[in-house]
Amino acid sequence: MSQKMLVIGEARDGALRNVTFEAIAAARKISPNGEVVGILCGSDDVSNLGKEMIYYGADRVCTVQHDALATYTSDGYGQAVLSVIEEESPDGIVMGHTAIGKDLTPKLASKLESGLISDAVAVDHVGENVVFTRPIYSGKAFEKKMIADGLLFATIRPNNMKPLQRDDSRSGDVQSKQVDIKDVRTIIKDVLRKSTEGVDLSEANIVVAGGRGVKSAEGFEPLQQLADVLGAAVGASRGACDAEYCDYSLQIGQTGKVVTPDLYIACGISGAIQHLAGMSNSKVIVAINKDPEANIFNVADYGIVGDLFDVVPKLIEEFKQL
Ligand code: FAD
Repeated sequence: MSQKMLVIGEARDGALRNVTFEAIAAARKISPNGEVVGILCGSDDVSNLGKEMIYYGADRVCTVQHDALATYTSDGYGQAVLSVIEEESPDGIVMGHTAIGKDLTPKLASKLESGLISDAVAVDHVGENVVFTRPIYSGKAFEKKMIADGLLFATIRPNNMKPLQRDDSRSGDVQSKQVDIKDVRTIIKDVLRKSTEGVDLSEANIVVAGGRGVKSAEGFEPLQQLADVLGAAVGASRGACDAEYCDYSLQIGQTGKVVTPDLYIACGISGAIQHLAGMSNSKVIVAINKDPEANIFNVADYGIVGDLFDVVPKLIEEFKQL
């Protein structure tokens, strides 16, 4: 198939988020012989990031630079991306299933009266059709979906599709587009960040998560040490957040973040269905719990029955040897 695909890139702190590269790989898979065009928005010059998209498989990149794009608003980014879609007339648009992707793509799809497949974890070709796999019922089942005709929008769950190998010998145009952005109804006065340090939880390859079993805010310290040794992000159950052991920005689950790391280490988490909704698709799950009957062991690949305050320090020592 040779369709033209547009990939909406996302940057944070001056670097592209990994899911942008995964979205490029998805676009290539949807249209192996077609053109993949990146789009990047910002208030600064983002042409360097445009080159990065090309190294990861885009053929060329359109950038939109405007003061109104300093921080994401659905009005501002919506106008910028819509203008590029109208100019480029792509057959499909792909983006990460991130907070911004979840906000922007339904708005654009409804405006263009197009179909949207959200939170896809795989793309396949079945005959002439492009079929997406996406989790349903909080990750307990998967459905396969396709868009019969017309413009296709898709969001890709982070950490599921492997980015293409970076190749800095690839070349392609990074072209700046002028877009008249007006009537932006949202004014961002300030951005309050919970944390500027550490690994991004939704894109981490390894997550060390704590539940009510950690017993206190201090109880998270050994988990943070283990995360530091492994280069992992720290996450939590809602039980731990509700008990004020940690911030809600760490919550994983149905009403928190959805993560799909290579390795998920659950410490003192019982495995309630709402928690499993956010992590059960992790590639390898290790559970540490005092209760051998805990539900988390039903989804774990490796289970350690024991006190996390004995087990976690031993793991830290072992991993330090590697
Ligand atoms: P608990 O269920 O209390 O489990 C603590 C575990 O720690 C136990 O299994 C215990 O054996 C173990 N333990 C205790 N001490 C130790 C120790 N020293 N060493 C090892 N193990 C120990 N929850 C989420 O996580 N994410 C969500 O997004 C979410 N959304 C929800 C949405 C709704 C609408 C509702 C109703 C609930 C939601 N919940 C969510 C809450 C969920 O139902 C559970 O209450 C919560 O996940 C329990 O957290 P927990 O496993 O940390 O606590």
